[in-house]
Amino acid sequence: MRISEIHVYQHDLPVKGKPYTMANAKVTELDTTIVKIVADNGLIGWGEVCPVGPTYAEAHAEGARAAIAQIAPGLIGCAVEPLTIHRQMDVMLNGHNYARAAIDIAVHDLLGKHHGVSVASLLGGAAMERVPSYYATGVDTPDEIARIVKEKIAEGYPRIQVKVGGRPVEIDIETMRKVWEVAQGTGIRLAVDGNRGWTTRDALRMSRECPDIPFIMEQPCNTIEEVRKIRTQISHGIYLDENSINLNTVIHAAATGLVDGFGMKVTRIGGLMNMVTFREICANLSLPHTCDDSWGGDIIAAACTHIGATVAPRLLEGVWLAQPYIATPYDAENGIRIDGGHINLPPGPGLGITPDETLFGAPAVSFS
Ligand SMILES: [Mg+2]
Repeated sequence: MRISEIHVYQHDLPVKGKPYTMANAKVTELDTTIVKIVADNGLIGWGEVCPVGPTYAEAHAEGARAAIAQIAPGLIGCAVEPLTIHRQMDVMLNGHNYARAAIDIAVHDLLGKHHGVSVASLLGGAAMERVPSYYATGVDTPDEIARIVKEKIAEGYPRIQVKVGGRPVEIDIETMRKVWEVAQGTGIRLAVDGNRGWTTRDALRMSRECPDIPFIMEQPCNTIEEVRKIRTQISHGIYLDENSINLNTVIHAAATGLVDGFGMKVTRIGGLMNMVTFREICANLSLPHTCDDSWGGDIIAAACTHIGATVAPRLLEGVWLAQPYIATPYDAENGIRIDGGHINLPPGPGLGITPDETLFGAPAVSFS
């Protein structure tokens, strides 16, 4: 089976409800990039990458499409094999993991369909059929966040991530104290995500003023050096998210004891093939992690759910999806949904979803 056509689509995803707010960004509509790969046997594979605005990571929507356009001509005629494709992508473009990931996901979808197995099977095999998710609050007032946390615990989420940063740290501290009033004794796991927005001073204050609240701190500060500076001074666990930009950074952070876990994005690390390597590094060092992406519709949601299902259950911190913020699924029947804080692994083959192509309009660019 070889690649005969690659089509790239641009699609807008309005944010349902209030704008989604993080320390460095407030978003109301996301620009997603969808890749359709057609094989010489007529099978179709789908991939997607959707940066959550241009300031969350060193990634943006137009950048994804430009990078894919740089890579795609070199993939026509290539065997549909993840390693072969990644090596060919190395030949066409250095870096740009997030764009390459959309191709990697489409290749896995195609390969699964070709062999009649799910992507989770291709990635080693599912350890669970019902995959835990977690809820991420936006940045909001202490009372509003406490209300949301109470509601989401009742819905069945096993974990809540509270977004903080971009405002005086006193409000963040008050937020976590109020959250703890409703969370204590429920067994919910808590994360505090600074999205690079705190100074080391802020992170130290949060940890020292909330010593009794068992949250982990996710990406509190902007750089690895800042995280290293606070590492030995705080008693809370630290996870890296935005700074873990490739497998090299992951290996270094994990091996030097910089972190207790990761918030990991499938597209940032370069797709599902690299996620398997990441998963095994973490398994060997007993490091918990998430399997998410920053935003996107049913295609990326399915990819995250399939890799998430293969993680050892004790190490899976959950699969976050943008689905609760998206009004129109790509697949009205089998779209990926969070229900009771969990996601049902779609049965195969491939990603297990069939996007309604008419939603995407004409391709922005095509290669054959
Ligand atoms: Mg994060």
